[in-house]
Amino acid sequence: MKWINHQIVTGFIVCTATDDALFTASAIVGAVLPDRVEGSPPKESSAYWKWRKKHRTWSHYPPIYLALIAAAQFAKEYYPEPTLAFALNLITYALVGALLHIAEDGICGKVPIFTPHGKHGIKLFKVGSWREYFFAALIILICLFVRFGDLNLLGSYLGL
Ligand SMILES: [Zn+2]
Repeated sequence: MKWINHQIVTGFIVCTATDDALFTASAIVGAVLPDRVEGSPPKESSAYWKWRKKHRTWSHYPPIYLALIAAAQFAKEYYPEPTLAFALNLITYALVGALLHIAEDGICGKVPIFTPHGKHGIKLFKVGSWREYFFAALIILICLFVRFGDLNLLGSYLGL
């Protein structure tokens, strides 16, 4: 999935779930985190294949992000200071964004689930294809439907 679609789909899902602009913004930042930590692919051929071999391994391994979320939540419980708790919530939603990125990659390719190198996934569409945009639009519609309850209410918001 393209970065822009990762950000849009993740943003809509988190906004629908939390109804919070800052948590949504955090999740949008986190939505490209697993790719960003890999760095950009090197131009030189042998370096590229070395990079490619590591692509979508540790950076896309959900237990790492789940452990970091657990650590952030634990720290929040342990140090119940409001500013720190707020910052830890923002970090948590950035990590949730990263987990959604991995799930989104898992439907257009393969990602590690059980071990960092054993990749699984279902390929519903090719990255950058019209199907990807269709899928993103579908998720947005589902989020709007969930958010606004029924289509009549949604229609009245849209002026239809
Ligand atoms: Zn990715």
